[in-house]
Amino acid sequence: MSATVTETPLLPSVQKFLATEGKLLIDGTWIPALSGKTFSTFNPATGEPMCQVAEGQKGDIDLAVKAARRAFDKGPWRKLTASERGKMIWKLADLMEARLEDFAQLESLDNGKPVAVARVADVPLAIDLFRYMAGWTTKIEGNTIPISVPYAPGAQFHAYTLREPVGVVGQIIPWNFPLLMAAWKLGPALAAGCTIVLKPAEQTPLSALLLGELFCEAGFPPGVLNIVTGFGETAGAGLAAHPDVDKVAFTGSTEVGKLIAKAATGNLKKVSLELGGKSPSLVLPDANIESTIPGVANAIFFNHGQCCCAGSRLYVDKSIFDKVVSGVAEQAKKIKVGPGMDAQTDMGPLVSDEQQQRVLGYLESGMNEGAKAMVGGGRVGTKGYFIEPTVLVNTNQKMKVIQEEIFGPVVCAEPFTDLEEVVTKANDSIYGLASAIWTKDIGKAHRIAAQLRAGTVWINCHNIFDAALPFGGYKQSGWGREMGHEAIDLYTEVKSVCALL
Ligand code: NAP
Ligand code: MG
Repeated sequence: MSATVTETPLLPSVQKFLATEGKLLIDGTWIPALSGKTFSTFNPATGEPMCQVAEGQKGDIDLAVKAARRAFDKGPWRKLTASERGKMIWKLADLMEARLEDFAQLESLDNGKPVAVARVADVPLAIDLFRYMAGWTTKIEGNTIPISVPYAPGAQFHAYTLREPVGVVGQIIPWNFPLLMAAWKLGPALAAGCTIVLKPAEQTPLSALLLGELFCEAGFPPGVLNIVTGFGETAGAGLAAHPDVDKVAFTGSTEVGKLIAKAATGNLKKVSLELGGKSPSLVLPDANIESTIPGVANAIFFNHGQCCCAGSRLYVDKSIFDKVVSGVAEQAKKIKVGPGMDAQTDMGPLVSDEQQQRVLGYLESGMNEGAKAMVGGGRVGTKGYFIEPTVLVNTNQKMKVIQEEIFGPVVCAEPFTDLEEVVTKANDSIYGLASAIWTKDIGKAHRIAAQLRAGTVWINCHNIFDAALPFGGYKQSGWGREMGHEAIDLYTEVKSVCALL
């Protein structure tokens, strides 16, 4: 950890925010939980509590769903023109931009990530997402369809489709990119004209609560966005099972994703899921070594490996394996681990004690099964939830560290000699979220891209996101695609209208 701490001074507005007890946003009003209960949110750099937020449970979810239902069925929201809806979303983005530093600080304090990263990545990406989706409001269109109807000879019809909002949407999000995940979910739902109940992760509720304040300021009608902080097993499960919710959208673990899908069967609500990953990076013998080393290192170490698309399996051609992997290990050694609010920090703590224990458990299991840490392999310090950037070698396809999502700064590196074999290995996973190919032979890269069973294939890059580029998973990495115009499909229903002329 860095010896000197250059602590970023907290904005007075952030200090004030932290000193106020977080409430639930229901029907445009901030209220305590029905039970009166609150829970602490912790600073992962110290393990100390920072702030109290309301513990919403099933009854609070019910109130929030009722408010969202009223706002959808009767409120002024549905009567706004597409352009008015777009302007409101754009206004929200402007208000967020004016509070960019507040968001960056809250995100760093709550999640542990470096404030410098939140400032240039999480917050601007969230703002951009809202602006992109604001543009979609006026472009959600149906089709006119020339139908022939063989059993009605001579009859003429006018047939067309409408794309309508799916209705009341429940959204459950994780802690790795708290604000950005909220934006990915809220942006397209608002653009489509839905109303929402959002359940942030218990570990990181703060940026969503600030976003809720700006929502009210932007002039959205009451009930369009309701925010219920609380725990997954109570508030989250209540939302996923609620009979008056038309759709549930979830990002998090595959395990909980399966529970969400089951809970949704009660009323067969629509479900979209963005789940785990175990994404392979394939480094071909002709790769540009100088850019590949930092590229594949960043693929795993960005956000402390707490990315669903982290490049956690590194397959390198045998001829350059030692060079590339020792280069990645060198990069790992250079990473400054420290509190997110320290301006010198490259990598902050993991989000929680639980995640630290989980990652340490995987490291132990890897070593027990014969893996070797070229660098790292343990925790850093005794306070806070820090883990050393780690490169494991001597791994094989059967090990837990290769098959399961670690969600920490741990990469498993293996050499390969046969391209066909390595593509098979890359696909040998229950997941299929992302993958990357590093080579100068772009033709070959595209041919491999077609063979990889993953929702995203990066070529000579990793972790490149854009509001216009769909993101989501094959296999057990999920259902549906977020961002891009695909995201609008998740939040709309198609209605066919057919008239006999
Ligand atoms: P998680 O349990 O899947 O949490 C994600 C969200 O689901 C949180 O808001 C959580 O609430 C909620 N939730 C939990 N149980 C629920 C239930 N029964 N019904 C409805 N909602 C529920 O993830 P985690 O426990 O925080 O992390 C565990 C592992 O999941 C990680 O190590 C990682 O492998 C994976 N993960 C993946 C992603 C991703 O982006 N794909 C993100 C985070 C975690 P609470 O947090 O309030 O309990
Ligand atoms: Mg949890």
